Amino acid sequence: MTTKDRVRGRKVGIIGMARSGMAAARLIRKMGGVPFISEVKSEEQLASKLYDLKKDGIEYETGGHTERLLQSDYIILSPGVSQTIPIFKDISSAGIPVFSEIELASWFCRGKIIAITGSNGKTTTTSLMGAILSAGEVNNVVCGNIGSPFADCVLDIPSDGYAVVEVSNFQLETIEEFRPFIAMILNLSPDHLDRYESFNEYKQAKYRITENQTSSEYLILNADDAETTNDNIETDATKILFSTERILPSGVYINGKTLTARIDNNIHEIIDINKIKIPGPHNLQNAAAASLAALLIGINPQDIARALETFPGVAHRLEDAGMVAGIKFINDSKATNVDSVCYALRSINTPICLIAGGRDKGGSYRPIIDYGKGKIKEIILIGEARGKIFEALGKTFPVQFAECMEEAVKKAFNSASPGETVLLSPACSSFDMFTNFEDRGEIFKKAVMSLKNDHEKVHNAGLKK
Ligand code: ADP
Repeated sequence: MTTKDRVRGRKVGIIGMARSGMAAARLIRKMGGVPFISEVKSEEQLASKLYDLKKDGIEYETGGHTERLLQSDYIILSPGVSQTIPIFKDISSAGIPVFSEIELASWFCRGKIIAITGSNGKTTTTSLMGAILSAGEVNNVVCGNIGSPFADCVLDIPSDGYAVVEVSNFQLETIEEFRPFIAMILNLSPDHLDRYESFNEYKQAKYRITENQTSSEYLILNADDAETTNDNIETDATKILFSTERILPSGVYINGKTLTARIDNNIHEIIDINKIKIPGPHNLQNAAAASLAALLIGINPQDIARALETFPGVAHRLEDAGMVAGIKFINDSKATNVDSVCYALRSINTPICLIAGGRDKGGSYRPIIDYGKGKIKEIILIGEARGKIFEALGKTFPVQFAECMEEAVKKAFNSASPGETVLLSPACSSFDMFTNFEDRGEIFKKAVMSLKNDHEKVHNAGLKK
């Protein structure tokens, strides 16, 4: 069966009307299939989307999933929807196959796929990968969880181009043939334990990124993270490693101060690590991983270096949010798990007033003690997880509570001294108080701006902090 036959004339049920579900519906329709989207939200909550669907002639149901889904030849499941919802019992007893949107899109990809997963660093590395490919004048589309869904841009990728796809474990749970030319697992730390029974189950979902690869394809792993390199990963792919801690016999590593690669016994000196624009030890790992992938597809080290020198990073990831009265503000709203907070703490070399909290994701907050000792001056806690975080950290660090972001920013500013840093790095998801992490980051930046304006007014009036 050709890939087109997998869609043409087929009835495809799509669960979830978020971005990837909408993109899947559009692709199916374009390829001659008959999409039907099912969503639990009500008509009123979905007004503009329903307008688009009607315009495109795509059928849908709202307010819940009905038996109509059971008439589908197969189902496309949105990453935000769990396979534990009740309709799934009927779908699986009817033997209806379930795929993710990246699986569907990959059927139509003429170019090669670079797929990037991990607990942290996916968006940064995916976007950096795109910048490196562009510096090497290689046709590429950056998509997946970042930017447009894969299904929306897959038809634009020519046969000599690359799809750089950020993939989450939820998308990987329902792949069948998804087969990247290069797959990366950047790191693995406990995350999403609110949706997985155990860390092991979460890791198994991530490992699926490589399950269809063959020996002519590559699996890039982090030599410094035993969870990514352990023997539990079954793969036929050619494994190749990066490290920022030791010199490797093969792969990418740091030699002295130089990001260096050794591939097929050829040594390439890529860049002095001090020239890499994105800050911190974790971003060095991201740079190493993306450089390794770039070298494997033949991009020359000078082009890679050019991209590393100029790539500014992605908003809400250790983003500079301004300076007020000599105090630096950093927006790391995307730090939704403890591991990324620990990396943020490692990346900053001044005393820190940390703003954390939000909706708990089920892990332990105690690792913050190891990285924060001697560095965290005070923690300002917001959101639902305040109590749990206070229990874990309150004996080690001074803690204050705040009801909203504006109050948290003011309290942190009052506690910090010139030369110090106020860091928003929440270790939690944002959904208790904000629409999403971007919203949380924007509100933080606005609060900093208004603090700055107030401060300037006071300063101009001849008063000091
Ligand atoms: P993801 O898409 O996997 O969530 P991001 O690039 O959006 O990753 O970064 C999320 C958070 O993790 C940010 O706080 C960022 O500073 C931090 N981070 C980025 N890269 C890494 C890494 N390699 N290891 C640990 N933390 C990282």
